[in-house]
Amino acid sequence: MISQKNLELGTKSSVIREVFEYGLKRKAEIGEDKVFDYSLGNPNIPSPKKVNETLKKLIQESDPTELHGYSSGPGYVNVRKAVASYLNETYAVNESYSRIYMTCGAAASLTITLNALVCEGDEIIVLAPYFPEYKVFIEHTGAKVVEVMCDKETMQPDVAAICQAINEHTKGIILNSPNNPTGAVYSSMVLAELSSVLSEKELQYSHPIYVISDEPYRELVYESSVPYTAKIIKNTISCYSFSKSLSLPGERIGYICVCERCEDGDNIFSAICGAGRALGYVCAPVLFQKMIPEVLGATSSIDEYDKNRREIKRILDECGFKYIEPEGAFYIFIKSPTENARDFCEEAKNFELLLVRSDEFGCPGFVRIAYCVSNKMIKSSEEAWKKLAEKYRLTGERK
Ligand code: PLP
Repeated sequence: MISQKNLELGTKSSVIREVFEYGLKRKAEIGEDKVFDYSLGNPNIPSPKKVNETLKKLIQESDPTELHGYSSGPGYVNVRKAVASYLNETYAVNESYSRIYMTCGAAASLTITLNALVCEGDEIIVLAPYFPEYKVFIEHTGAKVVEVMCDKETMQPDVAAICQAINEHTKGIILNSPNNPTGAVYSSMVLAELSSVLSEKELQYSHPIYVISDEPYRELVYESSVPYTAKIIKNTISCYSFSKSLSLPGERIGYICVCERCEDGDNIFSAICGAGRALGYVCAPVLFQKMIPEVLGATSSIDEYDKNRREIKRILDECGFKYIEPEGAFYIFIKSPTENARDFCEEAKNFELLLVRSDEFGCPGFVRIAYCVSNKMIKSSEEAWKKLAEKYRLTGERK
């Protein structure tokens, strides 16, 4: 007998992967340029030049055994110091390197943090729509997932609904802003409201309620700015990744910061070291750790994503599709013109448009598109979008 839970996880793929695999098959059948694959959040903009320059320099100039050797479990001290200084300079906070843990990207940051926090009987709140892996990560710790819907027009957190969902078992809440899948950026005002509700509830239940702030898109914002959650909500643990900001998703590098004002923060950091050890997530990839101090603050070209965002918005507007205004990350959440988003995705496939239905994001009735694709593909897909809109008799506005 083997673990049935893991067997099931390993055999059924996510809806995003399902659509992506279908796209690969379809491209082989009819040609790459005939399929408009909007399924995957895989950055298509190259990393900043500094990334490869630094890597080359490290490879050419370092002692090879030292270059590829183990670091300590939480990472190199100089790297953690550089991350803390960067956060302090950028967000005017006072983080300490002694509470920074280097990880293999956001997925590891989240799983380590959840494993460090969760005790038997705990509940973790997620805000729908949410990144589907949250459910996998939380359930694996034994905690119960409690879904709370965001405001369906703005996709900002519904603070009154969160307040209602909190009880004595609530250990934490995962926030993700800029958001996958909606592109919403949570406003300072909403975060401040949430902060006061959390403080009230902490008093009522006599224990902290931690905000696990999943921040892989922190720098990907277009016309606004992204409030730094830890500055507004005291019991925050930031889970960061360089996957998206530096277009390095395959290299697996990120960090956890147990923020300055986090209650019991030193013990939480020790529990994070323990969870990292138990999960085998020690000593994040060292070559990439060593690169980090040189590239902090650099990003792949956000202008390119913005160009895509404007292009796809224009097409959707002209076709008459309704969507949540995308302020950050590289996703647009489109309202399905029929009640069942699965049917809409199937219809879209007839025009070679590959969209992801929103059911697995905990919010039926929408589809997600990822616009981290080539601008050329977006332009070529315009006719397909128009034909899809005609099927639903949508009328748009020319701008
Ligand atoms: N969290 C969100 C919201 C994401 O969209 C992703 C990846 O797409 C992750 C976490 C995982 O990121 P990483 O590749 O850094 O593990």
